[in-house]
Amino acid sequence: MSAAPAVVELAGVTRAYPGVTALAGVDLTVRGGELAAIVGPSGSGKSTMLNVIGTLDRPTAGRVTIDGHDVAGLTDRQLSALRAQSIGFVFQQFHLAEGVSALDNVADGLLYSGRGLKDRRRRAAAVLERVGLGERIHHRPAELSGGQKQRVAIARAVVGEPALLLADEPTGALDSTSGKAVMELLNELNAAGTTILVITHDQGIAESLPRQVVMLDGRVRHDSAADGRVRHDSAASTTPTEAPC
Ligand code: ADP
Ligand code: MG
Repeated sequence: MSAAPAVVELAGVTRAYPGVTALAGVDLTVRGGELAAIVGPSGSGKSTMLNVIGTLDRPTAGRVTIDGHDVAGLTDRQLSALRAQSIGFVFQQFHLAEGVSALDNVADGLLYSGRGLKDRRRRAAAVLERVGLGERIHHRPAELSGGQKQRVAIARAVVGEPALLLADEPTGALDSTSGKAVMELLNELNAAGTTILVITHDQGIAESLPRQVVMLDGRVRHDSAADGRVRHDSAASTTPTEAPC
């Protein structure tokens, strides 16, 4: 089986804050076309890891490679360009601009693409149609339900066709029906080729996804992608983690 190219590679990634090590030497490879859940208790480093992968935060040690770029070698300007072209973000609290239509919230996802307003709106309308909001493109966030707002936020995140979509608790503020619709949408986007990492507290959601990465105390405690597979790269240096503590 030939593996797809890595979209994300973390090697020994550490992120220390004064008094807290949020990430403590994380190794993780995510390949093109994957859909993975990141789970773990509050404070285990999930958001920090997603922010480092999304180049919103730089590690204090280790190497981060995104879509083939070693991010340590990029200037802030180049990082912004990488984010704009290759990475979409979705957060629990939607982060939509309030006084602005769904159409323009999504069109803003293309602000740094160099496209004119008319083209940005045309693409935004097409993506809103795709997420099932074709009838609501002129609605403002206050006129939309939580689930609809999150679909607008997802449309904004993917309108630029990023290689990687990062979602931090995207269903955390939604009722279970809307949460399910959002997960169905993420599954559809993944089926169409987008690589997706989703942080979730919801065990059912995590188990429904093809891969689960379990974080604990800033480390990857378990990765289902490693199950039943010989890990030539790290087998020799891996210490058993199942010992009673
Ligand atoms: P999770 O998303 O799994 O709940 P986080 O990645 O948000 O965990 O946090 C991991 C650890 O890092 C926590 O102990 C948190 O308090 C700490 N942390 C996160 N961000 C900061 C920050 N900006 N400054 C100081 N400590 C932080
Ligand atoms: Mg978090």
